[in-house]
Amino acid sequence: MTALVWIQREFRIDYLPALQSALAQADRVIVAYFHDPVYSQGEAASVWLAQAIESLQRDLTKRRGSACLWILEGDFESHFRSLLQEYSVHKVHYSFQVGHPFFEMQQKAQRVCETLEVGLEPHFSEFWFEPGEVLNKKGEPYAVFTPFYRNLQTRLDELVPLEKTRTDLKKLLPVASDDWTACESLNRLSRQPWAIEMMANWEVGESAAWQKFLSFVDGKLQDYEMQRDFPAQDATSALSVYLNFGHLPSRMLVFEFRAISQDNDLQALLSWQRQLAWREFARLLLWFFPYTEEMPFQRRFVDFAWEGVDQRTHIWQRGRTGIPIVDAGMRELWHSGYMHNRVRMVVASFLTKNLNQHWLIGKQWFDDTLLDADPANNAMGWQWVAGCGVDAAPYYRLFNPLRQSQQFDPDGDYIRRWVPELAALPNSAIHAPWQYPEECRAVGVELGKDYPLPVVDLEKSRLRHLERVESLKSVG
Ligand code: FAD
Repeated sequence: MTALVWIQREFRIDYLPALQSALAQADRVIVAYFHDPVYSQGEAASVWLAQAIESLQRDLTKRRGSACLWILEGDFESHFRSLLQEYSVHKVHYSFQVGHPFFEMQQKAQRVCETLEVGLEPHFSEFWFEPGEVLNKKGEPYAVFTPFYRNLQTRLDELVPLEKTRTDLKKLLPVASDDWTACESLNRLSRQPWAIEMMANWEVGESAAWQKFLSFVDGKLQDYEMQRDFPAQDATSALSVYLNFGHLPSRMLVFEFRAISQDNDLQALLSWQRQLAWREFARLLLWFFPYTEEMPFQRRFVDFAWEGVDQRTHIWQRGRTGIPIVDAGMRELWHSGYMHNRVRMVVASFLTKNLNQHWLIGKQWFDDTLLDADPANNAMGWQWVAGCGVDAAPYYRLFNPLRQSQQFDPDGDYIRRWVPELAALPNSAIHAPWQYPEECRAVGVELGKDYPLPVVDLEKSRLRHLERVESLKSVG
């Protein structure tokens, strides 16, 4: 009997129940990744994807002796169907994923399997618990994080660990054609100079992910709670992209915490685990409320008068708004494919509230430029900031970018790194250069030429936002 392990974005060998159950049940196992341009991800994430495919191919080859990740490019449904038919596959094993494009592909796979009478075995290994296992007292999904997390913590003893893949991989079928060992279109993308620059400081793959996790726990974790909001500090784990591509299974990190907690400051571990639980929360939200990838969770925002793409959108995307902390974040994103969480909130608030642009515009830009672009985290993050999501920041409250900048980048180090034309300004002036024309002149910065004047008046735009949301108060 032949089984297919369908990889969507679980680029690892260990802790992968889909692979383990296929190996346990079948005589021959095909491991395949289907790359359909119709279902492609954003450009930055696609560059990571190219290397994730390469690293899994390398790891499987090392353990099996020959390339055995089948990479099929083109129309998903027809490749999927022909593979099942040609190799008489009796069962498909896969890890369930939420959001676009995974959901559509999973639906298609289900239809093909039903037509061909092939078994389909989903695994919920990318979740901590299966959707529906952690519900509120009314038996409904949580829409507020804190009670969700409180409940989740009391359930952690019931969490089922994933296993290492100890079986040898002899049952894996080597790739049937040399054309199927790599994904040429993705590789072409990742050879672009911008992609090479973006990836210069990253190492992709399962073992790199574990090394990064362990070195985070040994080092930065101790000061995580104190430092995590300061973008100039390298204080967070930068593991989001490893989690998104499944190099690290989030559930296993909970078990790792328990194993190491005796030697470490438990409070620091719990503080990081709480952030990781936000990811879990986001996944469950998209499972229960799939419309929230495109529509506001709070229905009263459906007709809210956000504006569409215009010149200001491009100014924001390129980091030319004239608000240094916003520009620093947007340029960090453009060059590195990453942005610090605190700054993500600031730039998102600026776009949706000061510029009144639709949150979907920002989400789309993040989807295209973030290495860690994730349908669940991204939708939840944008809606949270825009005020229309679950657990949202009150819709009438804006992040004041100047206060955020002064509080979380007090010495302007983050701004100086990404907005070098302002580097010579004193700390007092760097957060709001337009308020300090003398200081700018003294260091040779001509506002409007060397660095833009603000694209919007922060106070006036704040008041306009408050007027706009006034109408929501009467809507239930
Ligand atoms: P750490 O601080 O080390 O946190 C550990 C892990 O916890 C992260 O890797 C992540 O998986 C999870 N996590 C932390 N904060 C959050 C959060 N607020 N929501 C959900 N999970 C969280 N994260 C993504 O992975 N992909 C996205 O596309 C994404 N888009 C976002 C958009 C907006 C507007 C906002 C405000 C946040 C977004 N986030 C997204 C969440 C968060 O900014 C990143 O997960 C975090 O900055 C990644 O850095 P880190 O790995 O160093 O995080």
